[in-house]
Amino acid sequence: MSKLSNKVVIVTGASSGIGYATAVELGKRGAKVVCAARRLKRLDDLAKEIHQAGGHAIAVECDVTRKDQVDRMVATTRETFGPIDCLINNAGIMPLSFMDACKIDEWTRMVNVNINGVLYGVAAVLQEMIERKNGHIINVSSVAGRKVFPGGAVYCATKFAVHALSEGIRQEVAKHGVRVTTIAPGLVTTELQNAITDERVKERFASLPEDFVPLESEDIADAIIYAMESPNHVNVNEILVRPTQQEN
Ligand code: NDP
Repeated sequence: MSKLSNKVVIVTGASSGIGYATAVELGKRGAKVVCAARRLKRLDDLAKEIHQAGGHAIAVECDVTRKDQVDRMVATTRETFGPIDCLINNAGIMPLSFMDACKIDEWTRMVNVNINGVLYGVAAVLQEMIERKNGHIINVSSVAGRKVFPGGAVYCATKFAVHALSEGIRQEVAKHGVRVTTIAPGLVTTELQNAITDERVKERFASLPEDFVPLESEDIADAIIYAMESPNHVNVNEILVRPTQQEN
């Protein structure tokens, strides 16, 4: 039997990329997976894929910037599967831009999704995990949560915040047996870059060497599964994964 069999796991941002791949892997391991994001059609297809492979999953429409929707999604999880064993705060956006472009709407959206979205998720599950003396919160940050780069000031600020939140929460809940992990990927081939509207940043990405091999979402799903499958007395605090050819 898999170590994750029957574990109740919420994956935010499950409609594409890293979240999608992680949900699929969890489904294969017998977890009860709650696939959350805004694009319900994609989530339905994902849940169907997991069922067809013999797993358990539900699709729940949820905008993580809306506390009421996060609370409802968590309530639906409890009603359907029971108490939450693991919350994977993966939803994120990355509309990179240079500061002088003053893309204030994009800055605000990044703060709302990448920071508030994580906080609402944590708020919805933490008390229960403390009471059960069991639970795992996994926050998907980024190499950008460790290193700042031009065009990434606001995105990096949100991901530095994710690292800080993870570590702060970890210190407070360690005594209750609750685990907290930060996953920090380097460049992964996903839809994340599609949100970039600043042409100067687009050019920077376009200038990657032709033979550059980025990570695939499954590579990060593997890292998440590793942290989850570690025994309860082992808290994998942080995993940073870069493509081999990524220097910074
Ligand atoms: P994708 O764009 O493929 O996936 C992002 C996911 O977030 C989608 O499922 C999207 O779903 C969801 N999302 C966005 N906004 C919201 C919202 N308001 N409410 C709920 N869900 C939302 O990108 P990735 O898979 O690459 O990104 C996943 C995480 O990995 C992000 O936190 C990102 O910052 C991080 N990361 C990615 C890297 C990369 O190179 N790709 C590198 C380092 C970190 P929907 O639109 O349906 O709501």
